[in-house]
Amino acid sequence: MTRLTDAHGRQIRDLRISITDRCNFRCLYCLPETEEAANFYKRTSSGAPRPIQHEWKPRSHFLTYEEITRVVRVASGLGISKIRLTGGEPLLRRDVPRLVESIAALPGIEDLALTTNGFLFAKYAQALRDAGLRRVTFSLDSLETGNFKKMTGRDGLEELLGAIDLAQKLGMNPVKVNAVVIRGLNDHEVPAMAGFARKHGLVMRFIEFMPLDSGRAWQADHVVTGREILTQLREAFELEPLNDEHAAATAKRWRFREGAGEVGLIMPVSEPFCGQCNRIRMTSDGHVRTCLFSLQEHNLKKQMRDGAGDADLAKWLQAVVLHKEAGHRIGQAQFQQPDRTMSGIGG
Ligand code: SAM
Ligand code: SF4
Repeated sequence: MTRLTDAHGRQIRDLRISITDRCNFRCLYCLPETEEAANFYKRTSSGAPRPIQHEWKPRSHFLTYEEITRVVRVASGLGISKIRLTGGEPLLRRDVPRLVESIAALPGIEDLALTTNGFLFAKYAQALRDAGLRRVTFSLDSLETGNFKKMTGRDGLEELLGAIDLAQKLGMNPVKVNAVVIRGLNDHEVPAMAGFARKHGLVMRFIEFMPLDSGRAWQADHVVTGREILTQLREAFELEPLNDEHAAATAKRWRFREGAGEVGLIMPVSEPFCGQCNRIRMTSDGHVRTCLFSLQEHNLKKQMRDGAGDADLAKWLQAVVLHKEAGHRIGQAQFQQPDRTMSGIGG
């Protein structure tokens, strides 16, 4: 099998697919469009925010489920074995179980997961499970009702906690939970969130805030580094390091000496893992991005709609992957935030 290998020798195995750029939340680090988000950035950022004028793509721009499944089939023939469906909020798209079913049936796909804010999860959970979804990741940035609303723009903590419980009952274990930690907002909740993971046997990931917010108001001061988070965790718990199973793992992981679950740190800002990155992404309108921070995209939808055959698509993907950037440049003078925000790229 010809493999997808980039110009730096990294083998690409992981494809993250955004199925919609729309969202029913307004997370302060992603789509900061609430008054509370505006107040936070006014208080903590120097210079006025320069919002990216994001327009929702008309639905006609989205790849169809048939097109997405075709891309996955071709990609799996090139060694892609991990697929994550994301967004925007993926569960806003109609009939996601149908897409899950067709991807889960493809040979070569060893791992199919979904990232969701959980608000609509209960409605589709059983159908997603029946369709073959085995893994789900939720975003949980706060366990305090008021702070949750401030962080996400939505009063949805109860729904999310119910969703996590339901996913566990449906056997989608281990259930993963992501928290983006922002200085002065939810950093005081790190021990409580880790304690929640320990109590419920969850895989908790604390993520450093990246400059992908639509307000373009990110500042280095907002970032609580993995090192700081680890200090907090070590003060509260006895931790034992877990060796990464895969060299390309993005998280540093620990288990609790007592109790279930684990915690991990994803530190793209303070300790970039670009050298081991084995991912590419596809946006809901069918553009391939070789890095979260790519300034250039590759229009796969056009190839497909212009009639490219599977072999042409495979060749095209191989050529595109050769453009994969050596790494991001956060913190360097040349750093430029991409036009697409996290909600449009797919995290
Ligand atoms: N809406 C779904 C959700 O929130 O889980 C899926 C899409 S969301 C873009 C995927 C992940 O990206 C979430 O876990 C979110 O916390 C993370 N994310 C969004 N903006 C981010 C930022 N500026 N820095 C770091 N992580 C971010
Ligand atoms: Fe929506 Fe997810 Fe972005 Fe929050 S992080 S605004 S839930 S896409």
